[in-house]
Amino acid sequence: MNIDLSKLVRPNILRLAPYSCARDEFKGRPAHVFLDANESPYNSPFNRYPDPLQETVKARLSDIKGVPAENIFLGNGSDEAIDLVYRIFCNPGVDNVVAIEPTYGMYGVCADINDVEYRRVVLDEGFQLNADKLLTACDDKTKVIWICSPNNPTGNSMDRGEIEKVLDRFDGIVVLDEAYGDFASQRPFRVDISKWQNIIVLNTFSKAWGCAAIRLGMAFASTDIIGLMNKVKYPYNVNELTQQKAIDIMSDLGRVNKWLAAVKSERDHMLPAFQDLPICEKVYPTDSNFFLAKVKNATEIYNYLIDRGVVVRNRTKVTLCNNCLRITIGTPQENNELLACLRQL
Ligand SMILES: *Cc1c(COP(=O)(O)O)cnc(C)c1O
Repeated sequence: MNIDLSKLVRPNILRLAPYSCARDEFKGRPAHVFLDANESPYNSPFNRYPDPLQETVKARLSDIKGVPAENIFLGNGSDEAIDLVYRIFCNPGVDNVVAIEPTYGMYGVCADINDVEYRRVVLDEGFQLNADKLLTACDDKTKVIWICSPNNPTGNSMDRGEIEKVLDRFDGIVVLDEAYGDFASQRPFRVDISKWQNIIVLNTFSKAWGCAAIRLGMAFASTDIIGLMNKVKYPYNVNELTQQKAIDIMSDLGRVNKWLAAVKSERDHMLPAFQDLPICEKVYPTDSNFFLAKVKNATEIYNYLIDRGVVVRNRTKVTLCNNCLRITIGTPQENNELLACLRQL
């Protein structure tokens, strides 16, 4: 599919001349006296504005993720990238987006904030996506399709062939949120972004990398799409403390990989143990660091656990998730405490 970005992007964004920050203008030339940005000369290094394009972080990330730096956008969590997609592509009150249902709540919240119609296409009973159903829900005002894989809150990966069918046939933007990709065994789509002009893949520091507090999310896409995101974002959207912490965490990936292995091994232990509980009706297959389980009475069990200081996510009101709890894999001690509480029921 040949994608004409100039037809997809909101006209005001196409025309936009971005804010030019002090640090952009001299770029590339050596300098040592900085009297250009009205910063304080004191309190180094935090007196200086951070790198607006986070080049050091991106260079390291590029190696780790196998994606060229020019195809990477960094934002204040994936949430910033999600909001930017609406602001770049969707004319408020006019355009619509299509998403699988159930899925991550932020796609819908950001649609509401941006006054964009949000069309939900319910997954099948096995929580699988059907490309034809998604495409049928689209019309000439559909700018974006949201796919989350592995999906939250169901935990499973979407069928790769169906995702490719959507990418091949849809003439708008397809956002593929792989926030939980590190926990899955499938090949991630980010390494294949050059195959499609319309793909945006999301990753985050918040899950496998143990850095939810620093608020750092990534988008991988064509240089044209990354250029649009950079043009619309706040000039200094990722603060210096976050950039430093990101570089720190990436300097010892061995530690991250140990955490990842520990979570996966605990997951293998938790799924059958939970399935054996008398209150459990069903544990759904998962490729994530959490699982969805159908229980006898989700709200009662949720409240019982809260009384014991154990918090899980009650998803009983979510489509296809009646009486379901979403449970994150914790440390062995935390998981055992949860199981011990539930065995007393
Ligand atoms: C947790 C999660 C994210 C991460 O969001 P951040 O803003 O990067 O913390 C993104 N997508 C999904 C589906 C998630 O569950």
